[in-house]
Amino acid sequence: MLGGKGFLQCGICGKSMTGTVRKSHGKTYITYQCPSHKAKQCETKEVRADRLNLIVAQQLAEFFFREDRLKDWEDLLRSDIRDDPENKSLKNRIKGIDKKMENILQNLEDVVSKALTQRLDELAQKKEELESKLRKMTNVPTRITKDDMKKLKAGFIQLLMNEDLPEVRQFLKNTINKITVYNDKITVTFNLKMMN
Ligand SMILES: [Zn+2]
Repeated sequence: MLGGKGFLQCGICGKSMTGTVRKSHGKTYITYQCPSHKAKQCETKEVRADRLNLIVAQQLAEFFFREDRLKDWEDLLRSDIRDDPENKSLKNRIKGIDKKMENILQNLEDVVSKALTQRLDELAQKKEELESKLRKMTNVPTRITKDDMKKLKAGFIQLLMNEDLPEVRQFLKNTINKITVYNDKITVTFNLKMMN
């Protein structure tokens, strides 16, 4: 998932690491190595892509689903519901009915007719229907528990590991600034300034 993006940097000499396809016991796998290592000018050993991917996915998940971000995720969920187009159009329809009812009430003083009050009742009923629909829509649970966060985190890692989706590629491109490979650790530097 990380090959060919220029993310990988050798922790010792700072050169970009490149990918190689290797074969072992009839299976192929990808490794990344520092170009200076082959010339015996750098001590960074090659790293297998699957191991690297897992470490990076875990670090991303750790970053995005940290416990203290729980409130941020809840806010996001709520704004998603609030900005839902159907939700918005319901609100507009309710407003429109209010306006109609107001107009009828204004005319009522002058022309009291059965038709008008009937129409008023109809509108009130329609409004109640729409309002109850709106209540149902906005009553979606907007609490995220610690357990939910754990599940989100696990799902997120799965997504990054198993899918080679264009959206995932774009996400990684936007999120990761640099991955530095040392022999004993791999560190990820993020692009995002707002979420830290
Ligand atoms: Zn190196």
